[in-house]
Amino acid sequence: MLPFERVTVIGLGLIGSSIARAVRAEMPTVRVTGFDRDPDVRTRSEELGFCHDIADSAGAGVTDADLVILCVPVGAMASVAAEIADDLPPEAILSDVGSSKTTVIENLRKALPNAIIVPGHPVAGTEHSGPDAGFATLFKGRWCILTPPDGAPEQAVFRMKSFWQALGANVEIMEPRHHDLVLAVTSHVPHLIAYTIVGTASDLEDVTRSEVIKYSAGGFRDFTRIAASDPTMWRDVFLNNKDAVLEILQRLTEDLAAMQRAIRWGDGDTLFEVFSRTRAIRRGIIEQGQDDALPDFGRKH
Ligand code: NAP
Repeated sequence: MLPFERVTVIGLGLIGSSIARAVRAEMPTVRVTGFDRDPDVRTRSEELGFCHDIADSAGAGVTDADLVILCVPVGAMASVAAEIADDLPPEAILSDVGSSKTTVIENLRKALPNAIIVPGHPVAGTEHSGPDAGFATLFKGRWCILTPPDGAPEQAVFRMKSFWQALGANVEIMEPRHHDLVLAVTSHVPHLIAYTIVGTASDLEDVTRSEVIKYSAGGFRDFTRIAASDPTMWRDVFLNNKDAVLEILQRLTEDLAAMQRAIRWGDGDTLFEVFSRTRAIRRGIIEQGQDDALPDFGRKH
């Protein structure tokens, strides 16, 4: 039995359009409605045809939905929730895909005090954005973390779990604050490091930008993939997961200082020990199917 019959996706970028495509592929009888505030995105989504219909407003899009998923940047969740407040059916489940959870849940609860809210975060994505970037298999074999607030009905959580499993994802339930700390380590701070190192390299006065690009295969280019991610989305992630990101950054700063000291004093044992541990993490990621083992990320040579 399908967990939902009428799904509405608000925000038709990478994640929203991927969900719409995946629902069409995996649950062909489910009706998919979409809405995006950008008229060009609405037109393009109609051309691409991954929704059955595209609404003219967020409110009009949710009137007969039994699941509404907000796929907008985390800073826009509150205003979209307010836009749908008068039209969201009381029995519908409201979910989202935001990369941070604690402040999003607070904002959704404030705007929709009586709604059934089961927030989620599919840990899957690429550095591309917009409706053309999405694809139906994005969530296959990836994790989706659900962070139901206290008091969320069990049946609603179960339906959301079944929904993501039907799209091919593995589902984990997590407390929102713990989610924000885990993601600060595994996603948010790595993005901040990539944005910073790419910015630093492009600002260096005695190394030209053409040299930075020319010799990027030495490692730099792997940071540039992450640093090419959507600026609006990532600005909002840092503004909304401030506490956890600052906590992890503090730890990172201390560890960086230790590495600096090891280099300064020629302490090769410390460097070797840390680099050996990190290699084992990479092996673990491959063993758990979260990346493949092809050398150089599978680039053709
Ligand atoms: P995206 O490709 O930029 O798509 C977001 C879409 O939402 C854009 O078309 C945007 O329009 C639209 N939008 C913004 N504000 C809106 C509003 N008030 N009402 C209706 N539509 C609105 O972004 P994305 O990568 O899909 O990210 C969407 C969400 O998924 C974010 O919360 C992000 O944290 C989360 N997420 C992203 C990834 C990833 O790797 N990208 C992974 C997991 C979760 P405009 O262009 O006009 O702003």
